[in-house]
Amino acid sequence: MTPEEAFEEVKIALAAKYPFYYMFLKNFTVIVSDKDTNIGGGYASVTRNNEIILYKGFANLEMNIKKATIAHELLHILFQHFKRAENYAKTRGIIITKEFINAANIAADAVINIIVNTDFNVRFPIFDEIFKDIENKSMEELLDQLLKKSTKLQLQFADISCDLLLTEEGGGRTIQEGKLSKGTVSKEEIMKKAIEARIYAKVAGIGKSEIERIIDSLLAPQVNWKQAVKNAIAYGIMKLKVQTWTKPNRKLGDLYAGNKQICKPDIYCFIDTSASISKEELRQFISELTGMIREASKIEIVWWNDGIVGKDTIKSRSNIINIRPKGFGGTRFYSIIEEYKRELQKPWNIAVVLTDCMWYDKDKCEKELKKFRCHKILVSSTDLSLNGFDRVYHIEKGVKY
Ligand SMILES: [Zn+2]
Repeated sequence: MTPEEAFEEVKIALAAKYPFYYMFLKNFTVIVSDKDTNIGGGYASVTRNNEIILYKGFANLEMNIKKATIAHELLHILFQHFKRAENYAKTRGIIITKEFINAANIAADAVINIIVNTDFNVRFPIFDEIFKDIENKSMEELLDQLLKKSTKLQLQFADISCDLLLTEEGGGRTIQEGKLSKGTVSKEEIMKKAIEARIYAKVAGIGKSEIERIIDSLLAPQVNWKQAVKNAIAYGIMKLKVQTWTKPNRKLGDLYAGNKQICKPDIYCFIDTSASISKEELRQFISELTGMIREASKIEIVWWNDGIVGKDTIKSRSNIINIRPKGFGGTRFYSIIEEYKRELQKPWNIAVVLTDCMWYDKDKCEKELKKFRCHKILVSSTDLSLNGFDRVYHIEKGVKY
């Protein structure tokens, strides 16, 4: 089997079962080198330009190891290990030598192999004989540990498997051109690809791989999304009050004459049940919302994913008992806009949308949302955002890797 044939086979296998790795793979340049080398074990490496190089040994690997090897190189790119190694050196006044890159390579490989070993059921080295508490550590933290050890030890391990090349060019036959190779790939571009893959996997109903669980945890709220939604609602209410006190809003007409709040807003909370939030959290959230009922004429919670999966209306404390979050999934919002058209049109109403912003019908919805006059607040559980809202809150999160 030629390396070209081997690569095609791996690509097909990844597309079928590992969409995340596949979507990522197809955007990067892959080169076959005939060089006799022990770089990357003689199998594969990655250049500073995010090109993947396959060596002679690659074609002879067992299929599963081939997949895991490609995934390994991809994760170096995704985690931006070159850039981070360089930053690490720069901020600490370390000169970037081959030895330093080797040390960074071990730390990076350890982080990656934990993931690859789980995803492909292989046993790539995680160097647990040199690192302590390797789980949930970043490359930088492991590098700290490693650089405290003796130089001799560093070098001994560094020779094993270095696959981060200091060079910019791979040298060899290009078997796939990828538009994200060459130059630096921004974090945004990488995240965009990751999210594309996530949406694809969601739609295709393919179970999550370890790397996707990690991406999700990078994107998921760690800090108090409930507070963020409550703040958003409180802000909406306050804004209405200020409007009526300072100048009667022409949009609102007689309803808000003078400084007395004659008409209380309806508050609609559209909660994307796929936004990595637990059921217990949702229950707690609803009970907290009831505290705000005095300020509104009603609070309606709409649980949605591919459409509306449930509704709950809070009118007083007494009727929260039956509320349970419903459903899971969640990528399409358009049908919800259609159903709530009339409510969204009223300028005194408040709409809060809690979501991870990974929408299949994003463009259509953004265009439509702009038309509505109610106060629209987006609470994003990720770095992503959507157009068409008056205000956007991002829930903070803790990030490692
Ligand atoms: Zn590596």
